[in-house]
Amino acid sequence: MNLPESLIQSLQNIKGFNEEAFKEVHQSGGQITSVRLNPGKIFNSQFPIFNSQLEKVQWNSNGYYLPERPSFTLDPLFHAGTYYVQEASSMFLEETIKQTVDLSKPIKILDLCAAPGGKSTLIQSIISKESLLISNEVIKTRVNILTENITKWGAVNVIVTNNDPKDFQRLPNYFDVIVVDAPCSGSGLFRKDPNAINEWSENNVALCAQRQQRILADIMPSLKDGGVLIYSTCSYSQEEDEAIGDWLMEAFKVESLKLKVDEAWGIVETVSENGDAFCYRFYPDKVKGEGFFIVGFRKKNSAEVKSQKSKAKRNVDKLNSKEIEILKPYMYNGDDFFFIKQHDDVIALPSWLENELPDIQSSLYIKKAGVRLGAIIRNELIPAHDLAVSNIINPSVARLEVDKETALQYLRKEAIKIELDTRGWILLTHQQAGIGWIKAMQNRINNYYPKEWRILNK
Ligand code: SAM
Repeated sequence: MNLPESLIQSLQNIKGFNEEAFKEVHQSGGQITSVRLNPGKIFNSQFPIFNSQLEKVQWNSNGYYLPERPSFTLDPLFHAGTYYVQEASSMFLEETIKQTVDLSKPIKILDLCAAPGGKSTLIQSIISKESLLISNEVIKTRVNILTENITKWGAVNVIVTNNDPKDFQRLPNYFDVIVVDAPCSGSGLFRKDPNAINEWSENNVALCAQRQQRILADIMPSLKDGGVLIYSTCSYSQEEDEAIGDWLMEAFKVESLKLKVDEAWGIVETVSENGDAFCYRFYPDKVKGEGFFIVGFRKKNSAEVKSQKSKAKRNVDKLNSKEIEILKPYMYNGDDFFFIKQHDDVIALPSWLENELPDIQSSLYIKKAGVRLGAIIRNELIPAHDLAVSNIINPSVARLEVDKETALQYLRKEAIKIELDTRGWILLTHQQAGIGWIKAMQNRINNYYPKEWRILNK
């Protein structure tokens, strides 16, 4: 692996950089695989992925290293959203949030650059049930994979949006926390993806730094006074890392947040050139993970006149009590939700979100909110796939536990051949995790797995 010499030269004076060790770890060809379990779906510790004594990712309560990379595609529990395959260093976001934010209170948190959803699924796992995560991706073609991963994660307190950072200025002083996992030059992932080396250039680093400033400048007005901004990249370049910290401190009234880091973790604390921002670097020769950078700030109270909160009203199509009664048997704690209709479908959202939703709807383009339950047709719910993989589904819904082979047949959208003595909608589960609906008919079983998500390889 030929690392760009200009990158190596640019890192020479940065704390923690050791040229020899850095080059060696890139040459070694070693690959690290790590996953983060979904605490919203872990019903027991019987998951196959959990069978051996897995090594813990030390800075994340749900993160584990796997001894080798299995075929995730051929694991039904992967499709059921019981875990997310995530690079270990970036799981440090959990520590950063836990050390800087009071998570016992309900908060509104924005993950601005969210696709494919690694940071968002992590955030959802640590916020309270009364907190809202807005998971945003500006690039239209990347919103689908984000929506898929959020759907599989199964939580009801997430809204997926497709907006440009500056659109969030319609929600001034709105968020308690904003996470900006910025698009960057990507040098931190060279070990995982050597092809990325060909796209790296000093010029691209400079362009990325400009874009990062633009994104941050656009989003800052929507952070509350006293709110926390977390900025991260997977680049080693100071221009995209510490220098962005310095720029932020000059351009905005923010204070840098120092984190407690266990020395054994191998994470390097640096201080930005102007001496103000405490930054955290992950070098793959020092941590068990890839290259990563993270820094946190608190927005100071400003004397700015706060804009009036809009009182947007939007006529949402509500359900009548008869329709709600049809839905309730499908849901766990049905009284905790409110329901809206979208086209033919009914969507469940946490009841505390009812007052908040009109402002969000009038400000942002919502791709998905809460959990889609399905359509009510002739006094019957035609259940949506989102409900099957959600964690609001009623445990007493008719279900059928299947082995791995059958689960994979189902996920390939093949015909399922099982003897059943019941008829109607049945939730298929594997290791107790919902994977989707089947409908048992008189002489066949219909497979309702979403066509666009089906497994294509054998
Ligand atoms: N946070 C994601 C995760 O953990 O799975 C990874 C995010 S990736 C590092 C950066 C994201 O920023 C990409 O999804 C990219 O499409 C998005 N992006 C690109 N240009 C952007 C811009 N101008 N403003 C905001 N986001 C942008």
